[in-house]
Amino acid sequence: MKEEPIIEQADSLALEKNKLNGERENELEKESLVEYLQEISGTESLSEQESILRSKLEAQLKALSYTTSVDGAGNLWGTPPDDDTANLQREIILCAHMDKVGAPRTAEVDGNKLVGRLDDALGISVILQVIKNGLRPSVLFTVEEEGGVEEIVDGKSKTMRRIASSGRYSNGARVASQNLSEQERKPRLLAVVEVTKKSKPGEGPVIYTSAGYGTPGKQEYFDVQKIKKIAKIINKKKYGAMYTEGRPNDSMIFATVPDMGVIAIEMPLLNMHTANEEGDYRDVEKTIRIVEDILNNADKI
Ligand SMILES: [Zn+2]
Repeated sequence: MKEEPIIEQADSLALEKNKLNGERENELEKESLVEYLQEISGTESLSEQESILRSKLEAQLKALSYTTSVDGAGNLWGTPPDDDTANLQREIILCAHMDKVGAPRTAEVDGNKLVGRLDDALGISVILQVIKNGLRPSVLFTVEEEGGVEEIVDGKSKTMRRIASSGRYSNGARVASQNLSEQERKPRLLAVVEVTKKSKPGEGPVIYTSAGYGTPGKQEYFDVQKIKKIAKIINKKKYGAMYTEGRPNDSMIFATVPDMGVIAIEMPLLNMHTANEEGDYRDVEKTIRIVEDILNNADKI
């Protein structure tokens, strides 16, 4: 057997050690995210009945040293602890909705496969995990995103659904947008972290930009330059992310806030709006990394 030179041996040992440390870190992150996911997916939160989940999330944010407040619609806002190094990250708001379409189902995990009521427990879990990882964005958890959406089971709509009394979707985002519009200093960017049926689990997150909508020169027209900057930050190949135009759901409402960028980063699901929603942890992990990349490049946005 040919002997390896000592130095190369040491190098390869160090590499192996780094790799194992990295794998261990990824495992710990997955454990932590799954803990958030199971808690949130298993908690009842039909549209207009988000209060139990909201209290839990308030406690989670406080445990991460965040200050919280609830607005007139019931949206939960979280502000990071005040320290100078975090100043730019706090100008980015990560947003996900608290309400579910039907009865809760605690997520089950089998390898990378995730099954349960994942919309939008996944989005909230990603946001909490990113904060736990040490990043310091502002946070907004909205109510009534699903208002007006029916749960479909076996081709028939199921009575478990909850139609918001307003009869329309994104009611919480409408109130939040009003609040944001009145702020003198607008956030640089609001990133909605959501789920989608536009792609298949394992194929990577879908990133919605808004260049296809609105009227140039009007306030609702998104700053295309800003989207280009974000696209540069997110390495498409590295994440296998897919870009598409448009503003789904809450992000469409937020796009009406003047002088604030909006994007949506969405994880693919099968069986959307059923209790058997199925996702892939690899998409979740990529979404965490994408959100972290955006926050770490807050100065470029
Ligand atoms: Zn959703």
